[in-house]
Amino acid sequence: MVDIRDLACFGRPARLVWNKRRWRCTEPDCDAKTWTEISPHVSSRTVLTRRAGAEACRQVGANARPVAGLAQELGACWWTVMEAVKEHGTPSSRPGVASVWSPSSAS
Ligand SMILES: [Zn+2]
Repeated sequence: MVDIRDLACFGRPARLVWNKRRWRCTEPDCDAKTWTEISPHVSSRTVLTRRAGAEACRQVGANARPVAGLAQELGACWWTVMEAVKEHGTPSSRPGVASVWSPSSAS
């Protein structure tokens, strides 16, 4: 079971519980042997859905909202939101503006 945070819904944090299945290959020569389910909607690096992470990045980068505020809104910790900002954004190239991130066009 993996606890995932999605975009806030009606002003409240949205929590998804994902019953992540583990798969096993019965082929003796298999290199993978076991693996867990992955989803294109959820990054393996964070507990936020991609859309929640991308929106958090946009809010921090474009709207200059504090990471702490978004963490509260999403029901996630500060580090989770900061990780999402780093994953979805690219550091500002403007000198001296190291803390500003802009959403990347990918994902
Ligand atoms: Zn296999």
